[in-house]
Amino acid sequence: MTDTGILEAWIDGAYRPATTDCFETLNPATGEILAQVRIAGGAEVEAAVAAARRGFAVWSAMTGAERGRILTRAAQLLRARNDELARLETLDTGKPIQETEAIDIHSGADCLEYFGGLAASLTGEHIDLGSAFAYTRREPLGICAGIGAWNYPMQIACWKAAPALACGNAMIFKPAELTPLTAVKLAEVFAEAGMPPGVFNVVQGFAETGQLLTRHPGIAKVSLTGEVGTGIKVMTDAAASLKHVTLELGGKSPLIVFDDAEVDRAISGAMLGNFYSAGEVCSNGTRVFVQRKLLDSFLERLVERTRRMVIGDPLDPATQVGALIGEEHLQKVLGYIERGKAEGADAVIGGKRVTEGALGQGAFVEPTVFANCRDDMSVVREEIFGPVMSVLAFDEEEEVIERANATPYGLAAGVFTRDLARAHRTVAHLQAGTCWINNYNITPIEMPFGGVKLSGIGRENGKAAIEHYSQLKSVYVELGEVECPY
Ligand code: NAD
Repeated sequence: MTDTGILEAWIDGAYRPATTDCFETLNPATGEILAQVRIAGGAEVEAAVAAARRGFAVWSAMTGAERGRILTRAAQLLRARNDELARLETLDTGKPIQETEAIDIHSGADCLEYFGGLAASLTGEHIDLGSAFAYTRREPLGICAGIGAWNYPMQIACWKAAPALACGNAMIFKPAELTPLTAVKLAEVFAEAGMPPGVFNVVQGFAETGQLLTRHPGIAKVSLTGEVGTGIKVMTDAAASLKHVTLELGGKSPLIVFDDAEVDRAISGAMLGNFYSAGEVCSNGTRVFVQRKLLDSFLERLVERTRRMVIGDPLDPATQVGALIGEEHLQKVLGYIERGKAEGADAVIGGKRVTEGALGQGAFVEPTVFANCRDDMSVVREEIFGPVMSVLAFDEEEEVIERANATPYGLAAGVFTRDLARAHRTVAHLQAGTCWINNYNITPIEMPFGGVKLSGIGRENGKAAIEHYSQLKSVYVELGEVECPY
């Protein structure tokens, strides 16, 4: 923020005032304006690329250990600012403060620590060739663009920045236009931790600003978190200069409950995998398949537990369900709820906007469970990105695997059963990048995360992310005599 009160881009280690138009970011729980944010245009993106080029020269020349120390320091600084940043994230996203305080900022810090720790040990290999040998050098790609979705603003920024920076790249990050407030705070933290100017830059704006990045010939890689349609556009634009891409996209994931499952544990998984963050989580298990024998007791207990959920002011520590990201998205979610009812699904709980009291000013919708769903219903096929769970009955293991896979998406899947052989057999057949057994939506930083099919390309987190932010150079070294036929 500068003294004009406008949130400017962060370029070359400082806020950079510009004269382009601004947009407003709103608090989705109240509709109030939180800040005016500058839209980065061509000049700002060019300045960010130039700064990143200079930053890259300095950063990539440092040792992995030096880079790792700075990332680790940044993690500590991020944790020290947890209260302030969690509050900002809650204001900008509408997520309950109990979530942002416990998870959102800390998981970003976990990621900085994890990749900070790995930075010193990124190596190539030695290849013995008899009278010669070869080795590979693991080198950074150059300037990477990170483009974020609005549901986990700080976490997404860290999930992209940490592996990119650990490998020696520079980054230009564009947060989603609906949640632009915290990415620049990460830039402030990096600067305080001793990161050279230009290594991490932030530009704000809409799709057009994102396109300036994905089409820029000076940028080597784009990592997007967003919708499938956006992923296709980004990959198409990136193809013109053969950029590397990582795409973390949408999903309609299956959560399978066999009749020998621990019922309350499975219900916890289904509730976490549908109602956490008001259902605005890409990997949510929104198609809950329950084996027929268990169906009635599962639904009865699920409804009872869902009824107890506390919907409220996101800043109230007791609140479990906050606001959706905004009015437009709320209308989309309500539209799906109406279509579900029209298609014959039974809303056994929820199904309405919250209109009482102060919450009526914001984008609040009740956690909703649809029973009696069929696979062809729009609520079962399409990503809703709200607190809407569809429950489907099934009979056989083979049948449920086939139905679970009958989707163009492949982000995640869950299996609840006490039979471990069945659990492992089932996940082996599920078309999903991440599977959970007897739990749901747990994403430790050590575990690769990403999708198959239309849910994406590449992996974030874990050592696998290193592959996506570095490239190998092979070096052949002759030790013997060289015979030349000419
Ligand atoms: P979105 O696709 O509308 O926008 C994502 C980002 O892309 C924004 O910053 C936006 O400005 C930018 N953008 C849009 N069009 C662009 C273009 N043509 N070129 C470059 N950039 C462009 O997504 P959203 O509504 O912000 O987020 C919700 C979606 O994100 C859901 O589909 C959700 O499943 C997905 N998501 C996926 C993951 C994952 O890890 N797989 C995580 C979170 C969210």
